[in-house]
Amino acid sequence: MNKKKHWYDYLWIWSILYFTLGFFNILFAWLGMIDFLVPLLFAIIAGNKNFCNKYCGRGQLFTVLGKKAKCSAFRNTPKWMSSKYFRYGFLIFFLTMFGNMVFQTWLVASGAQSLREVIKLFWTIHLPWGWAYTANTLPDWIAQFSFGFYSLMLTSTLIGLIVMVFFKPRTWCSFCPMGTMTQGICKIKNKNK
Ligand code: SF4
Repeated sequence: MNKKKHWYDYLWIWSILYFTLGFFNILFAWLGMIDFLVPLLFAIIAGNKNFCNKYCGRGQLFTVLGKKAKCSAFRNTPKWMSSKYFRYGFLIFFLTMFGNMVFQTWLVASGAQSLREVIKLFWTIHLPWGWAYTANTLPDWIAQFSFGFYSLMLTSTLIGLIVMVFFKPRTWCSFCPMGTMTQGICKIKNKNK
């Protein structure tokens, strides 16, 4: 029997739309803050992972591509990938990279560095992305944050797609930094109850 579909079952479209919009205008990258803050709010306020279970467009995208479009090998996720050490190690790495991106934004805001219209893939590969921003439209730091945040979102999605191809569709979820953070918050919150 087919499960009744809800509006939030189509949020995977949002994930595609996000990257498409950022391809043409990098300022749309700021919308990614919704995906960053909403899961935290769910965990902090309600103490649950409803965002992961229902509203995460990225997780849904992996299911759609991996399961429905059969792009996944469906191999078991290696145990080390979902181990505590790897999950927390990856979270620390990810947060460090996020902090570095905020620092770069601050350097631009303070005038110590000029705006760099590039996307950094996998924290190493620089891709020119200048077409997506018209200089001086807004203060440079706003654009710098957009380039940095879009880089982070694109890199993490690509990692998710790679592990989706080789293992199960939602393998990324076993070490996703947002998932690790919200799980940690929920644990603390529910322990205190
Ligand atoms: S673990 Fe990450 S990618 Fe997976 S559903 Fe949760 S927030 Fe989305």
